[in-house]
Amino acid sequence: MSGAGDATDLPEPAALAIMAAIARKSVDSMAEKTVTAKQQEVQRIVDALAKAIAQHRLPPGMRLIEAQIVESLQANRNHVQVALQRLAMQKIVTIEPNRGALVAQPSAQEARDVFAARRAVERAIVEAITPAIMQQHAERIAAQMARERAATSSSDRRAIVRELSEFHRMLGEICGNAVLRDILDNLMVRSSLIVALYQRNDVPSCASDEHQQVLDALAAGQREQAVALMIEHLDELEGQLALHQEQNVEVNLREALAEL
Ligand SMILES: [Zn+2]
Repeated sequence: MSGAGDATDLPEPAALAIMAAIARKSVDSMAEKTVTAKQQEVQRIVDALAKAIAQHRLPPGMRLIEAQIVESLQANRNHVQVALQRLAMQKIVTIEPNRGALVAQPSAQEARDVFAARRAVERAIVEAITPAIMQQHAERIAAQMARERAATSSSDRRAIVRELSEFHRMLGEICGNAVLRDILDNLMVRSSLIVALYQRNDVPSCASDEHQQVLDALAAGQREQAVALMIEHLDELEGQLALHQEQNVEVNLREALAEL
């Protein structure tokens, strides 16, 4: 083999093309890895904030200070900003010019719309669940119902809120339609904000025995009955909310007090 500079040693055009392709591919996959890592990190922040909001640890109208999120989630500021923008697109967070991000405060009209959407989405989810799916997920369903009963017999309000809404999410997951599941996940976080703002009293919003009735109908293959029970259950939940005009006064007052 001769040294560099010898014309006969230059790679064939075909070999050059292959080398270039390999180089491009490795750059692409590095870029892909970086994008994926960033997306995963943003998703981690989105999930952490959505969970805290759903569990009422971050109440509606609460200011979300970037620096505090950066510190408490050990995250990069840019990732936190992207996460907040994503939550704003999902109507879970509101971004106001000069005020930054706040936990969203859905209006009474938005609350009604969210419940109408839940009736449509949860009807489709229930319709998709066959007795075979129920059998396949029997262990998970039993464990969920045990956690629900344990939570409702305790006075841990946070656990009650978490487990009762987890039931609805579980149906979204086992139904096998990832699009319905994703839509429901968003609606459940917004429902949690709505409950925090408009719940008439301090009682937990879902009744565990109504959940059991839906499951019993599904296990027996009575899907129409299961749909009817689910719709009735959602009507019941909406009925527990004070979605009247006067309620806005209270919401505004909360907002005013939060400013002090
Ligand atoms: Zn429920």
